Amino acid sequence: METNPCNNHVNGGSSIPSRVSRKTNSDNTIVNINGVKVGGSDIVIIAGPCAVESREQLFETARAVRMSGARILRGGAFKPRSSPYNFQGLGEEGLKLLSQIRKETGLPVVTEVMDTRQVELVSGYADMIQIGSRNMQNYPLLKEAGMGRKPVLLKRGMMATVEEFLLAAEYILNQGNEQVILCERGIRTFETSTRNTLDLSAVPMLKRLSHLPVIVDPSHGTGLRWMVPAMSKAAVAVGADGLIMEVHFKPEEALCDGYQSLNLDEFAQLMSDLKKIARAIGRKITLPEPSPV
Ligand code: PEP
Ligand code: MN
Repeated sequence: METNPCNNHVNGGSSIPSRVSRKTNSDNTIVNINGVKVGGSDIVIIAGPCAVESREQLFETARAVRMSGARILRGGAFKPRSSPYNFQGLGEEGLKLLSQIRKETGLPVVTEVMDTRQVELVSGYADMIQIGSRNMQNYPLLKEAGMGRKPVLLKRGMMATVEEFLLAAEYILNQGNEQVILCERGIRTFETSTRNTLDLSAVPMLKRLSHLPVIVDPSHGTGLRWMVPAMSKAAVAVGADGLIMEVHFKPEEALCDGYQSLNLDEFAQLMSDLKKIARAIGRKITLPEPSPV
């Protein structure tokens, strides 16, 4: 007898079929991002700058994170900034840079889409589209992403419960797109010493309730560069299928979120530690294919 209230609401207790639920599909869903599979025994690391700033910045960062073992490149072209006066991203120019760097490094790319009107454009360049924390309950956007065929990285709303998070994912699956990755990125609590409170208990909870892969964002989850390695290791240990983290070739010059971005050496060191943790729990971090550059 299931006693978890989430389960009762999301799937049990109701006759409405719930596509995200483990009860509907007991096998883990594997999300395939242009050949990189998330949700299997591999732990997949997604790394890159908060925002695409320039060709040099993206290329230098991508090449280095790839050498350290990242399998997917991140970088925002449309940025949801808290202040309208902050750098808003390069827009389509940023998307073009992402697809060029994908060609040069072989790394699939993930980038955020903020508006229903951008879904087609962003899907034309990206290998996976990201729906950010601020848009987790933008239902028209979720539906639009669900109507496409690109994998979707759905970030937990900063004020969303696990149940609301799963219901948001349900909107995407309900439109026919089952390639969804859930991302825990920290929630708002009374605590102010970190940017958000990284809810690592959501990882085993989501894995128990749903068949979808779960990854963790320790960068936005803490807002503190020095804490990112510790929380990354903890996330892998509690069963995350991957991590998405901010890495910049010159964090002190970053136009966005430099204070929570690892530099290239810190990332390389963390990757070597993560490989050991993955091995200890019977999983692995596979290096990318030999680089085309
Ligand atoms: C991001 O990953 O670029 C981002 C803006 O994160 P979040 O939506 O979790 O704040
Ligand atoms: Mn950021």
